[in-house]
Amino acid sequence: MSETDQNKTHIFYSPNKIVIGLNTASLVADEVQRLGGGKVLIVTDPGVVQADLMAPVEKSLQDAGVAYTIYDGVEPEPPARVIDSGAEVFQSEGCELVLGIGGGSSLDVSKGISILAANGGKVLDYVGIDQVPKKGAAMILMPTTAGTGSEVTRVLVLTDEAQNTKNVVFTPFALADVAIVDPLLTLSMPPTVTADTGMDALVHAVETYVSMNATVFSDILAERAIELIARYLPVTRAKGSNTQARYYMSLAATLAGCAFGSGGLGAVHALAYPLGTEYHMTHGRTNAIMLPHVVNFNISGSPEKYARIAALMGQDAEGLPVFEAAQLAVVAIQELLEAISVSYRIRDYGISEEDLPKLVDGAMKQSRLFVPNPKDLNEDDVRSIYQMAY
Ligand code: NAD
Repeated sequence: MSETDQNKTHIFYSPNKIVIGLNTASLVADEVQRLGGGKVLIVTDPGVVQADLMAPVEKSLQDAGVAYTIYDGVEPEPPARVIDSGAEVFQSEGCELVLGIGGGSSLDVSKGISILAANGGKVLDYVGIDQVPKKGAAMILMPTTAGTGSEVTRVLVLTDEAQNTKNVVFTPFALADVAIVDPLLTLSMPPTVTADTGMDALVHAVETYVSMNATVFSDILAERAIELIARYLPVTRAKGSNTQARYYMSLAATLAGCAFGSGGLGAVHALAYPLGTEYHMTHGRTNAIMLPHVVNFNISGSPEKYARIAALMGQDAEGLPVFEAAQLAVVAIQELLEAISVSYRIRDYGISEEDLPKLVDGAMKQSRLFVPNPKDLNEDDVRSIYQMAY
């Protein structure tokens, strides 16, 4: 917060209802009925089915006599066609409500299906900001990763295969009617998924906190999320069955989602996207790789906030000049990445240095994300950040 807050308009978006707690998955049938009932389309992916995460949800629906069918065709970093196919299933099965259970990929596909159910067409028709005319089918979202925060955001991310890029549909109609965050659904995440998705949540919180679009709401939420992730991500990476640590990571990811859903993102995402589309690396991992390098570049744009991030992440920044304290944010992020065994050097992923120009081109396609970034950057800056990250 700062004394310039009065010159800003502060807007906060969130789902109608957020339910967070252990065993809350068993409450899903109550929420379906509160939303008017009807046949439910459960949207998920094969990994979630294999991890047996559907059991409490199916039991709750069966006990309450709620009819449902399952669409488990979600693919990671979901291509648009996966959403279009799910919408066909929704229609042919006579469904009335979408229930997404899974990581960000399953939740984003759920949002697309909900939108298409009421608006028709194909999901690529709605790419951009506020291109969706009306609210979609009722929607409940249940994350099984502690990362994307998609359960509380008004955006869905899809892969446009023809353009070989990621695209977004940004609309308040992508907000869930109910988000149910049951940390027990995250216990089965393998260590690398835990690490990658947890870093995604940290990137949301950090990018929003320093964003030119940060608000009083996003600041409060981001600070708490940063503190919790620095404290508990190494624990969940080390011991997946630690329920307390899983609880705080789920909470942190949802808080970070609420923060960035209102405050926006920045250059980390812009530079991470091409690594994902070119090399099929996970969204969380690509964000993790780019975070320390972009923070290092950005520091002069928001030194006070980076100094605060360093302190929130446990660095002893007290009494230091603000630029020195801010530099400790880079140290804190590097130490966290080392603690969870995630390399932040592009060369460690089998990528040739000759490919860097391709990454620069990809990042420049995402230059809309440079606008809220705390420091201006041009193509030369992007090139040198990738070079440093290499
Ligand atoms: P994901 O949904 O792609 O899942 C990754 C893998 O983990 C899958 O194989 C899945 O089956 C498995 N998995 C998920 N939960 C599990 C569990 N509890 N136990 C065992 N396996 C489990 O990964 P993600 O990182 O959650 O989502 C990434 C997608 O979310 C990307 O497409 C990204 O662009 C998008 N995203 C969306 C938003 C938003 O606000 N809409 C924000 C950030 C990212």
